[in-house]
Amino acid sequence: MSDASDADDTERVASETAPGVVYLVGSGPGDPGLMTVKGRRLLDEADVVLHDKLPGPEILGQIPEEKREDVGKRAGGEWTPQEYTNKRLVELAREGKTVVRLKGGDPFVFGRGGEEAEHLANEGVPFEVVPGITSAVGGPAVAGIPVTHRNHASSVSFVTGHEDPTKEESAVNWAALAETGGTIVVLMGVRKLPDYVKALRDAGMDPETPVALVERATWPDMRVATGTLDTIVDVRDERGIEPPAITVVGDVAGTRERVLKFLRNESKPESEP
Ligand code: SAH
Repeated sequence: MSDASDADDTERVASETAPGVVYLVGSGPGDPGLMTVKGRRLLDEADVVLHDKLPGPEILGQIPEEKREDVGKRAGGEWTPQEYTNKRLVELAREGKTVVRLKGGDPFVFGRGGEEAEHLANEGVPFEVVPGITSAVGGPAVAGIPVTHRNHASSVSFVTGHEDPTKEESAVNWAALAETGGTIVVLMGVRKLPDYVKALRDAGMDPETPVALVERATWPDMRVATGTLDTIVDVRDERGIEPPAITVVGDVAGTRERVLKFLRNESKPESEP
């Protein structure tokens, strides 16, 4: 009996003095229906939600304005420095707030979530990771493209198309990727598409290899553009494909054509009977 009440006291004192908590939440690619139940609940419970634009207009539109803090691109087109976001997370947690750091897709896939987690740990702030559906898998999926396929690809690589210009050597070994024969999924790869298409071709990849661009996957204005290693740069330019978009390189990208007739993900009211 007395043991139990001691424990209760300890817990109460702890909760009165403990700092707040930071939840690193993945929003999934953008369709609110694809957020996890846990992520959704935390958005409702949070005192503050720090976000950028990647969760998309529908999910962001469901968060009350007074809870939102945009730490994405600033008015002048500059990114909010990562140091600011890190500091702000700690500051809010120390005020005892329940903080959601909402990130597009999965927080630990190319989202700098790892850096934020390390910063929180260094500062002694408790945090929890709530995974989300990464656009690297979910984006191709809703376009009818499985990233692996028994007949076409037994491996998949997720790579960044956005090279650090100060790096002398490419951080991504495109030639090695070309040799795996597996699917290559490129994030942040719209602008540099011509560069890595060339690198893959120089490495001997078949110019007829199917390539797909999935722009704003699951957002209301999602678009998909397809071609081959040979044509995709022109296709990008003709269709005016912009970030955020996923590039899928590999035979799996050809699956889309075979399933499109019955794929309902993209049915728009005007194309419905
Ligand atoms: N953590 C995110 C990735 C962040 S990096 C995730 O797991 O999805 C930013 C890149 O993600 C974009 O440049 C784009 O390549 C991709 N991306 C994120 N959301 C997307 C979406 N809805 N549609 C297409 N690409 C998306």
